[in-house]
Amino acid sequence: MSIADFDFNLSTRCDFHTHTHCSDGQLSPAQLLERAENFQIDVLAITDHDTTAALDIANRYILEKSLKVTLLTGIEISTMWQNFEIHIVGLNIDPDHEAMKTLVASQQAARESRALQMGEKLAKCGFENMTEKAKALAGDGSITRAHFARVLYNEGRVSNMQAAFDKYIGKKQRAFVKPLWCDVARAVDVIHQAGGTAVIAHPMRYDMTSKWLRRLILDFKAAGGDAMEIVLPQMSPDQRRLMLTFCLEYDLYASLGSDFHFPSKWSDLGRNLTLPEQVKPVWSLWR
Ligand code: AMP
Ligand code: MN
Ligand code: MN
Ligand code: MN
Repeated sequence: MSIADFDFNLSTRCDFHTHTHCSDGQLSPAQLLERAENFQIDVLAITDHDTTAALDIANRYILEKSLKVTLLTGIEISTMWQNFEIHIVGLNIDPDHEAMKTLVASQQAARESRALQMGEKLAKCGFENMTEKAKALAGDGSITRAHFARVLYNEGRVSNMQAAFDKYIGKKQRAFVKPLWCDVARAVDVIHQAGGTAVIAHPMRYDMTSKWLRRLILDFKAAGGDAMEIVLPQMSPDQRRLMLTFCLEYDLYASLGSDFHFPSKWSDLGRNLTLPEQVKPVWSLWR
């Protein structure tokens, strides 16, 4: 079914932020869809990091298996804003639009060159061939820091994935390389050209003060941005209240998603995802 015909309401089971192994998710598009079907998700967006590769595969799988779930096309674009890495989700995009294909190509080139430099820095930390190994894990998909973290963990160099970020590849750490992402305005513009809706991803996760977050929202609005995610699992009640306040105050549409990367008790597909009644749901833009 096309999204324009979908009859959304507040009890529709939606998850508008998920990853597959086309970026740093653990499941294939088919496995993710099977999981969504089992969890009785009505509408699932796949939003891989800087790639739309999963969308065709997913669409074909839904047809082939006659799944009930409706796929919403998506992407999560990494951007740089005031030295913060901000993620902008594009929903209901045309992945074949030329502007989108051009942006994806340049983001992939930025990922490639960052991966090479990260490998050089990790070599200086005593870890050889990290880029090669991370790329082997990533396969044809987007190469991400999560792949480097996984290699460091698999080889017993760190005790968990988080430690890889804390010790080596996180901001300000020894093997951190400043990425050459596009800016927020470009991401919003390209999402719009591709017919989509631009959403600030997980606004509470940027480790910024409310003052900075307000500035980000104002710049995002000035660029024509549409919506922000205000419901994710693992948000504290305080965070939920604050993000709802910002969403209403700045008159943005509201989105929701699990940011699913792998099966887990705390942030599985569609888990505890319901928008509050006061907001304008992001799906009202698609009718
Ligand atoms: P990248 O987009 O290549 O910089 O990779 C970042 C990805 O690594 C995120 O999308 C997360 O899935 C994952 N990740 C896990 N822990 C962290 C962390 N502490 N900081 C940043 N990213 C993390
Ligand atoms: Mn990720
Ligand atoms: Mn993100
Ligand atoms: Mn994500």
